[in-house]
Amino acid sequence: MSQADRQSDGAPRIIGRADHCISRKNISKAALKVLYRLREGGYQAFLVGGAVRDLLLGGHPKDFDVSTDASPDEVHALFRNSRIIGRRFRLVHVRFGREIIEVATFRASTDATEDPDAQKDDEGRLIRDNVYGSIDDDVWRRDFTCNALYYNIEDFSVWDYVGGVADVERCRLELIGEAERRLREDPVRVLRAVRFAAKLGFDMDPSLSAGIAEHKNLLSNVPAARLFDEFLKLFQAGFARASYDRLREHGVFRELFPEAWQGLQAHDGEHFETLIQRALDNTDHRVAEGRPVTPMFLLAVLMWWPIKARAAEIYETESASPSQALGRATFEVLGRQQQIISMPKRFTAPLREMIALQPRFQKMRGARALAFLEHRRFRAAYDFMLLRAGIGEVGEDVAQFWTEVQELEGSQRGEAFGVGSRRSEGDRPKRRRRRRRKPRNDGDD
Ligand code: ATP
Ligand code: MG
Repeated sequence: MSQADRQSDGAPRIIGRADHCISRKNISKAALKVLYRLREGGYQAFLVGGAVRDLLLGGHPKDFDVSTDASPDEVHALFRNSRIIGRRFRLVHVRFGREIIEVATFRASTDATEDPDAQKDDEGRLIRDNVYGSIDDDVWRRDFTCNALYYNIEDFSVWDYVGGVADVERCRLELIGEAERRLREDPVRVLRAVRFAAKLGFDMDPSLSAGIAEHKNLLSNVPAARLFDEFLKLFQAGFARASYDRLREHGVFRELFPEAWQGLQAHDGEHFETLIQRALDNTDHRVAEGRPVTPMFLLAVLMWWPIKARAAEIYETESASPSQALGRATFEVLGRQQQIISMPKRFTAPLREMIALQPRFQKMRGARALAFLEHRRFRAAYDFMLLRAGIGEVGEDVAQFWTEVQELEGSQRGEAFGVGSRRSEGDRPKRRRRRRRKPRNDGDD
């Protein structure tokens, strides 16, 4: 729906229970409890944001957010199991076992010209908005029309101020208000746009795509820690490949990963492209199967080309061994990438380790090679090596060796590595035997 089609008097279109598909069956019990209790307390209570959007789309929301005219203190007083969080935005978290329902008080739109309490920096970015208001105000500060729908617990109707229902029906992603201003206010909306387009399969409104093309460079003003949160939402939630494709399509990937982007332009860039795409597809499969994923793996993949290029340079120009060069290159490239998207140390340490282990796959004889199987990062390093083998960077025989050797029993394993055959089988547990021999043979392979 175009902005002009919208109600111009600022009143919502109210869609009665009979005219939409949202059923309380699909709303979590915890969210319903919060909504009902607020209402019994004499307050307005709406389900809002992504949950309403996903329910309209027939999906299962991953979390439920509630909006109300009760102040945070009033909400807190109603729920023993609640606490007030946040300084800039005061919100209430109501906890039911593992589920948390986030309750926000209606806030006013933050147009600095109308609202002296809203402050912006030189680029027009919002740095403070914590002014309470009514639902009529609250709607305008939300990002996309599809995220600005309110489900009223009073009569189970949906309130739509911005044509969000029509946009959900036609799978259209559109910012509320003027795209340029909304992206300047908060450049993270560039990534949110990409994420929702990827996750929901929505098409961006032309004004949104144009706004992104114009303002994607403002992402460089966003704190690196916040970009890490967005990275997780884009790449660890089951639609990593779609996110990547959209980031590329809109020229945003380059803003987040400039060195990887350069790697993609190199003469052998198509191999890097394949590597990235396969890693993303694997990640999505793992998420779909409920298996664990770690962001360090994808980040390592995304930095692999620049790291390799830099390692080759260091090896040629400085007196460093190949593995020293690799270690130094990882350190440098990671350091630069951290300036844009800062990853916590619990991810960067294993990332560096996983990369440092890559050369060890080439060594398939001796006790040290055998001991590699027990390394705490073996599994991640192995998965990474398999990806590399998929683009011809590691020999197929090498990949096959490490795949097969994991299936073998203790003594057969020893034989595969050419160790442990002198002693008769079974008279010692293999771990002890290896430990005793390791110091003598370490590095001897
Ligand atoms: P998801 O399904 O990924 O949780 P969501 O729409 O619920 O999607 P959240 O990040 O949980 O997204 O935010 C909840 C709601 O808060 C959004 O639907 C939107 O209305 C509003 N919102 C969140 N971040 C912003 C932002 N940067 N600018 C404007 N509105 C925002
Ligand atoms: Mg949400």
